[in-house]
Amino acid sequence: MRPVTDAPRHPALRDAAPAVFWLDDPQAPPAQPPLVSQTECDLAIVGGGFTGLWTALLAKQRNPALDVVVLEARRSAAAASGRNGGFCDASLTHGFANGLSRFAAELHTLERLGVENLDAIESTVRDHEIDCNFERTGMVDVATASWQYADLIEVAEAMRAHGYRVDVLDLEAMRAEVASPLYQGGLWIHDRTAIVNPARLAWGLRRVCLDAGVRLHENTAVTRLSAETERIRLTTAHGSVVARRVALATNADRPLLKRLRPYILPVYDYVLVTEPLTAVQLASVGWSNRQGLGDSANQFHYYRLTADSRILWGGYDAIYHFGNRVDPRLEQRARTFDKLAGHFFATFPQLSGVRFTHRWGGAIDTCSRFCAFWETSHGGRVASSLGYTGLGVGASRFGAQVMLDLLEGRRTERTALRMVRTRPLPFPTEPLRFGIVQLTRWSLDRADHNGGRRNLWLRALDLAGVGFDS
Ligand SMILES: Cc1cc2nc3c(=O)[nH]c(=O)nc-3n(C[C@H](O)[C@H](O)[C@H](O)COP(=O)(O)OP(=O)(O)OC[C@H]3O[C@@H](n4cnc5c(N)ncnc54)[C@H](O)[C@@H]3O)c2cc1C
Repeated sequence: MRPVTDAPRHPALRDAAPAVFWLDDPQAPPAQPPLVSQTECDLAIVGGGFTGLWTALLAKQRNPALDVVVLEARRSAAAASGRNGGFCDASLTHGFANGLSRFAAELHTLERLGVENLDAIESTVRDHEIDCNFERTGMVDVATASWQYADLIEVAEAMRAHGYRVDVLDLEAMRAEVASPLYQGGLWIHDRTAIVNPARLAWGLRRVCLDAGVRLHENTAVTRLSAETERIRLTTAHGSVVARRVALATNADRPLLKRLRPYILPVYDYVLVTEPLTAVQLASVGWSNRQGLGDSANQFHYYRLTADSRILWGGYDAIYHFGNRVDPRLEQRARTFDKLAGHFFATFPQLSGVRFTHRWGGAIDTCSRFCAFWETSHGGRVASSLGYTGLGVGASRFGAQVMLDLLEGRRTERTALRMVRTRPLPFPTEPLRFGIVQLTRWSLDRADHNGGRRNLWLRALDLAGVGFDS
């Protein structure tokens, strides 16, 4: 068996750096100093990705006098927020279909709140001049098999009933948008997706937070959360923070609160980025509307253009490691990169000869319902927002709003949602957990190669309302 960190073999990957394209940027800000003292504050936030940064920024907007401290184990945007596909979606429920299957009665509200959330992200980017190539291009769900096309037609009707502006694209119309011999059709969902440079968005939010007086300590891992009279202490290697309220925004990393651990499963997702395409290469693909693209199989690819006309190509393999392992060494996986490169050239054979410049992976905080859940503890003084699965770039802002509502003890339209009041089912403990994930992945792969037909195991999971996704 090939070791996880050996070099990929595909010739197009020969010069690809084992690095995140978005973070390989001269605009990356210098680190804020680690915490080396004992301090106090009103609100302490653990985690400096999108969830943590939005929590800090929105808290300051609600009350500029609030003293806010963010503690980040690595650097802001070093984890999922700086290494994702950059699809900033209005959906709060990991897509319309998942929302419909779980929260049908309140889906109209969730969809409206999701669009308001995306609008608010766009306004923040504009008002604070965050240079993150925010382009509200919309998204095309692509069918690469006839069963997928039939599903898209069905979902289009349901989407229209919920106010979506969508166009079903038949084979010719799809290939006229983006040219691939694999395409059988597509569903163009207008308005509800923006493509962004996610690291620049995170760094922009970080800058706005610092300007608003938020204290950020990077390279500062919180090792312990403990209760003191009326307050919470967060302990780090060289200091501590005593806070009136604490927001936990730690995504796929091991949760500080033991009670949260059964709900999160770190799943590694992998991404490639090509060199910039020449005008001739780009013309051979079309793609002049620059939509985000995703294929509609259970194991799916997501792909998009960057500002300098590269193609970012990710997804398909979603790898879980025994015991919820999270480790920077797992961010490289030669087998998956080779597979992704092969799929890329099968999709775009006209780009033969194009090379990849970057390859990387990152951990996703999968939960069994595929969308965020919230938890409070310590008499309402601690809140968490976790479980976005693969769609947290936009939803993290909503997650932050909910955490602040909960920490302030406010009853709002958000906190009244069933989605907010309920939790996903927990995953079983090891070794059952690992076995179940492997069986589910195998079954999903079989379904993709068998006209979408779901075996007994997948149907049982569907009935129980649980699953595995990225
Ligand atoms: C490869 C990949 C592709 C993706 N593509 C998309 C996409 O296209 N669209 C989309 O919507 N979503 C996507 N996602 C998911 C999305 O990136 C996340 O949902 C989102 O970034 C979550 O933000 P966050 O702030 O909650 O988590 P993170 O950005 O992971 O931040 C959590 C932070 O907490 C810190 N931390 C953890 N524990 C501690 C501790 N004890 N002390 C201090 N700090 C701690 C970590 O260092 C980390 O920086 C993708 C994810 C990956 C990995």
